[in-house]
Amino acid sequence: MGIMSPSHPEQDARADLISYLDFHVEAGVDAALDEQPHDRFGEAEGPAPQREPAPRRAPPPAPARDEAPGDDRFRRELPSREAPPKEPPRTYGNAASAKPNEAADDARARAAQMQTLEDLEALLRGFEGCGLRFTAKNLVFADGNPQARVMFVGEAPGADEDRIGKPFMGRSGQLLDRMMAAIGLDRTGAYITNVVPWRPPGNRNPTPQEISICRPFIERQIELADPELLVCLGAPATQTLTGTKDGILKARGRFYPYRLSDGREIKALATLHPAYLLRQPVQKRLAWRDFRMLKAALDGNR
Ligand code: URA
Repeated sequence: MGIMSPSHPEQDARADLISYLDFHVEAGVDAALDEQPHDRFGEAEGPAPQREPAPRRAPPPAPARDEAPGDDRFRRELPSREAPPKEPPRTYGNAASAKPNEAADDARARAAQMQTLEDLEALLRGFEGCGLRFTAKNLVFADGNPQARVMFVGEAPGADEDRIGKPFMGRSGQLLDRMMAAIGLDRTGAYITNVVPWRPPGNRNPTPQEISICRPFIERQIELADPELLVCLGAPATQTLTGTKDGILKARGRFYPYRLSDGREIKALATLHPAYLLRQPVQKRLAWRDFRMLKAALDGNR
């Protein structure tokens, strides 16, 4: 017959805390942003329909400041499952006050007024219509040469880009630089940006709402940079800019027409995202084919 070991409250509390953190790490949370959770969709949609209030248990007494871990009162410091006390809604500029469609319309109207890339960047620095700007460290507007004939568009900045404030700075960026070098390009001969100019927290994918709010900005950025060729890196950039619903393995290796607001058409090549190629190096041969197509198009258009 087994012997039950006596349970120590401080060990239980520690195990609870570790399993709570493990749960979040497994769910992809890699950064603590705020004391309270935020319902970003709710903020954009306005107040959620009210449900019957759940019966509330009395809140536990607040822990004394000098309680040490190891003291069994430490348990009280564990995150509570109770709803946090209602705090007044925080304002996130238009993100809080407008529905996503209104924020996107507002973004489109403002972007259309910008006549230079510098003005567009300044507009984005002050734009509060996308909640991502409140969790990102920096706006990631562009890198490279805005006069270049080719413009690369990725999805959204990651941690390195967010820290530095420029796109494609981390491992994916290093691979992109090598891919460009293979066809004789570097950042002096290419303009590089993303569909979404702020890092989504924890590197999650941008939501469709965030993309639709940011889309007018990337569209205006393309018009102002006025490249001959666009290269869409990965599915989100390809789907956002070409309108295709195809997955990237089907869409890649094709030139799509991209229509500018003045009616002119340029070509947009869909290819694989460098981050995908880092995970699936065997697919680099497909990207190599696409980059040869890009080089042929650049050589042919000369
Ligand atoms: N991935 C992207 O899509 N863009 C970056 O800037 C970095 C990684």
